[in-house]
Amino acid sequence: MKVRASIANSLNQPAHRVPVLLHTPVYSALAHALTYLSDQPLCPGTLVRVPLGQRELLGVVWDAAPAGTEVALDPARLRPITAALLSLPPLSANWRALISFAAAYYQRSPGEVALAALPPQLRDLNSLQLARRLNRPAVGRAREKLLGTDAPASVQADPASIPETIDLVALTAEQTRAIAQFHANPGPFLLFGATGSGKTEVFMRCTADLLAASDLGQALVMVPEINLTPQLEDRFKARFGPLYGQHAVVSLHSGMTPAQRLKSWLAAHSGSARIVLGTRMAVFASMPQLKLIIVDEEHDPSYKSHEGARYSARDLAIYRGRLEGAKVMLGSATPSLESWHHSRPSAEGGRYLRLEMPSRVGANALLPLVRRVDMNHQPKACVIAPPLLAAISQRIAKGEQSMVFLNRRGYAPVLQCRDCDWKSSCPHCSAYRVFHKIDRSLRCHHCGFAEPVPRACPDCGNVDIAPVGRGTERLEEHLALLLAGIARPDGTPVRIVRIDADTTRLKGTLQAQLAQVHSGEVDVLVGTQMIAKGHDFRRITLVAAINPDGALFSSDFRAPERLFGLLMQAAGRAGRDAGNSSRSEMWVQTCYPTHPLFAALKEHDYPAFAQSQLTERLQAGMPPFCFQALVRAEAGTQQVAQAFLNAASQASTDLTSVAHLLPYITRYPAVPMSIQRIANIERAQLLIESPSRTALQRFLSAWQAVLHSTRKQPECKGLLRWAIDVDPLLI
Ligand code: ADP
Ligand code: ZN
Ligand code: ZN
Repeated sequence: MKVRASIANSLNQPAHRVPVLLHTPVYSALAHALTYLSDQPLCPGTLVRVPLGQRELLGVVWDAAPAGTEVALDPARLRPITAALLSLPPLSANWRALISFAAAYYQRSPGEVALAALPPQLRDLNSLQLARRLNRPAVGRAREKLLGTDAPASVQADPASIPETIDLVALTAEQTRAIAQFHANPGPFLLFGATGSGKTEVFMRCTADLLAASDLGQALVMVPEINLTPQLEDRFKARFGPLYGQHAVVSLHSGMTPAQRLKSWLAAHSGSARIVLGTRMAVFASMPQLKLIIVDEEHDPSYKSHEGARYSARDLAIYRGRLEGAKVMLGSATPSLESWHHSRPSAEGGRYLRLEMPSRVGANALLPLVRRVDMNHQPKACVIAPPLLAAISQRIAKGEQSMVFLNRRGYAPVLQCRDCDWKSSCPHCSAYRVFHKIDRSLRCHHCGFAEPVPRACPDCGNVDIAPVGRGTERLEEHLALLLAGIARPDGTPVRIVRIDADTTRLKGTLQAQLAQVHSGEVDVLVGTQMIAKGHDFRRITLVAAINPDGALFSSDFRAPERLFGLLMQAAGRAGRDAGNSSRSEMWVQTCYPTHPLFAALKEHDYPAFAQSQLTERLQAGMPPFCFQALVRAEAGTQQVAQAFLNAASQASTDLTSVAHLLPYITRYPAVPMSIQRIANIERAQLLIESPSRTALQRFLSAWQAVLHSTRKQPECKGLLRWAIDVDPLLI
């Protein structure tokens, strides 16, 4: 199969012109497909290697430009491709359409999006090496099957290893109903199910049904952070491995080695992988027989990319499903307000079908009782309110686990001089450096700058410098002190474990720590939001949020949504095992116990919370009732960053092609970003809003050229970079 394109441009051989996409950033002049010569016709989607300047790059043969838009080229300057990777089946028209859409929507070049969506190792392999990898047993057989050259059963596991039946749990009435609705409707679906309502079981049944109905069908299952949800991977492997073979379930995420990623990608592309489990990057996996896309915990911010093309994998999943005729199911106990709004009744304009599973599985598995502790009435400066401490102590004495979380790692967020008011600010950022007691360092969580704690105040020499506020490290220390006298049922002392980004830096430590929690070796688990998500901790009966108030009054309009989701998720960690004797509890320490957010939390009433938030957003004209884009600029000085943004904004009024849209576009003045300086780089942003998604899209596409030319203005000298973020999550 391997064919190397020979030098195509030899005199007597007619050469074919092929458009090729390369990884060129949007702001280079080479934003679109380049034309190369080939001595044979190459169909779109074929991978090729081509020369560019002195380099040789991987490229994708692209679709020809629409008639009439071709650029005149000087034939003498066209160069031949170096090689075509013909051992690999071409990327499908659907895949190319997905890339083109994502590039246009997120205002990047198609080449950048396409090449970033391919496994990096593809760049290093030639056609022969690729052919070898493709012909490895699992991948090769399915590929032959896909191409119709092999006996039908070859992709199945060895029949002898297939168990007669797989033991399946009896579905609950709510699960049965959700699955029936899934089969009876085209979707997209929003599976709105309480934590512990058995959403994963629904995902697996729907996957099983669609795969069984189609000989070659494939399913894409997306999760926010694969490292935090190894349980899901295990569950899918256990369920589908016996049916389709262990190689039929593959993972795709950034924690894998390049070789592993390539292997999974090839398995998906060749069709041998029937199920791909992955993080946001998996939304671009080439899956020629895609029948189903599941987006678990669809509200999770990690579905939004924050570099390169700032795409939302959840939103692209919806688009891709429509494109490929695959069903799409989003799932969450606390959906994003966007998805919630889209799943309103269709009579009110809703486009998704909402499937509801309000109850937890198991007759006794009640949702935890939510208790609000009014911190205004607790001893001054207390960190853990006495009634909460008493409740934790009781759980320990009974041999049950508690989980305490605080959204700040390190020992204390700032160190301060009691005399002159010196604070441990970072010299390179507009932020404080965090005090880490374990190695007595001051570390900036933004630029990484770290120094030993000074022995005295650098400004006045006073030795009395003290931590202010509290992070998980200090909380752990404090709890150890408070709980020192409490014994477990067998008389041994209490065991506390902390899990956050600091304790899990080494590979494998997170898994080891989680295993300790699961096996019951831990009585109190302290951590950041990392522990609040996804894990199925069966022995935890008490969850406490130590200081969640900050998000209530944040300038970020999405902060309450995130807080509510986090608290509901955290509450969902408690009481998952009906066998535990006591009713599980979620404690919230707050100075605003009557805040509507906590009132809705107490009732586990996400719909009420969502309704109140959506009413506020409607009144304020915020998403999902308007569409936003943010342009961010970085420069040596704040003045230059802002000058660039304001000049480009001003110049957009001269754009005749979109003049009729300007009444629907609101351009705000440039402002410093909330963390204005990181690593000595000044950052500014400019917000653009429109009630119409299409108007915003057209405006942004036309405005790109203005941004490029503004950059060349003298007052923008010193501008380092800029980027557009469409549908930004953080404003
Ligand atoms: P969710 O994803 O909605 O939080 P899970 O799918 O993790 O919930 O289910 C919670 C627990 O209930 C899991 O341990 C799962 O194995 C179990 N479970 C799910 N469905 C059923 C069922 N129909 N009968 C018994 N147990 C079930
Ligand atoms: Zn001082
Ligand atoms: Zn810094």
